[in-house]
Amino acid sequence: MSSKQCVTVIGLGPMGQAMVHALLGKGHPVTVWNRTPSRADALVACGAVLAKSAEDALIANELVVLSLTDYEAMYAVLEPASHALAGRVLVNLSSDTPEKTRRGARWVSEHGGVHLTGGVNASPSGIGQSGSSTFYSGPREAFEAHRSTLEVLTDTDYRGADPGLAALLYQIVVGMFWTSVLGYWQAIALADANGLTATAVLPHVTELLAGMPDFLSVYAERIDAGEHGGDMERLAMGMASVEHVLYTNADAGVDTTLPAAVAALFRCGMDAGHGGDSVSSLVELMRMAKA
Ligand code: NDP
Repeated sequence: MSSKQCVTVIGLGPMGQAMVHALLGKGHPVTVWNRTPSRADALVACGAVLAKSAEDALIANELVVLSLTDYEAMYAVLEPASHALAGRVLVNLSSDTPEKTRRGARWVSEHGGVHLTGGVNASPSGIGQSGSSTFYSGPREAFEAHRSTLEVLTDTDYRGADPGLAALLYQIVVGMFWTSVLGYWQAIALADANGLTATAVLPHVTELLAGMPDFLSVYAERIDAGEHGGDMERLAMGMASVEHVLYTNADAGVDTTLPAAVAALFRCGMDAGHGGDSVSSLVELMRMAKA
């Protein structure tokens, strides 16, 4: 019999499956449940136990990891079994907005459970590997009590008691991830339209990204100080540049949705009179969109 903590994992998409493999690999007994039961087949073959129902999965263990598409999925799965939430620590690694996360945490606590929010900064292939990390927020005591088991999945980065905090930090990072990835897909489409493969352009885009940490830190300091002077570059130059990108894509017959959206944002900055300021003045425009 294993001395390792028993864990329930609910939600067996690519992420949940990777988590179960990592836990089993470290000797943790794992109970699983998924809306589509066949997704548990390979895990059961590796030693996981498939619960008959979400209720049974909750009853099986104190520590319950949720890996679902969003918080609506959590209610869909757990509302019919909500009486079994009492005394459970739900580590919810499903993505959603900070507000929905806070509401979800309240809902769990109203049913006698404890809710820890997690935002996983890794792809399924990074689960159980060093170098990946997860934001956590919620009650510190519950986090500390389960930290060593959670560290089987990724490194842990506890950010505070507010259940929305891990979700907020995750959405900040993942928003940048998706826009960067779209920029990459656009670059590959343009390259492909000109007879270049993704592998051929890889060294060039990699070199660009390698310079990003320095770029970001210079701008972080200036933006926090409210400095948007045009001493390093000017928005007017950026406007011309993004139009060159837009027209190069258009000339190649490539979809221009993304470069057109980028050019439209730059145009807003120009129209607001920031042509002589840094491109970072767009941050001010984005802030004001809320007002
Ligand atoms: P998927 O969306 O592929 O799968 C999530 C699980 O949610 C599945 O088991 C699915 O069940 C279940 N589910 C969805 N809707 C419902 C519902 N209404 N009722 C019951 N079950 C439901 O997600 P991933 O596994 O890829 O990711 C899980 C979470 O991790 C997501 O929140 C994602 O944003 C986040 N994440 C994912 C990363 C990735 O690279 N995959 C990276 C970082 C974070 P069924 O099998 O029956 O469809």
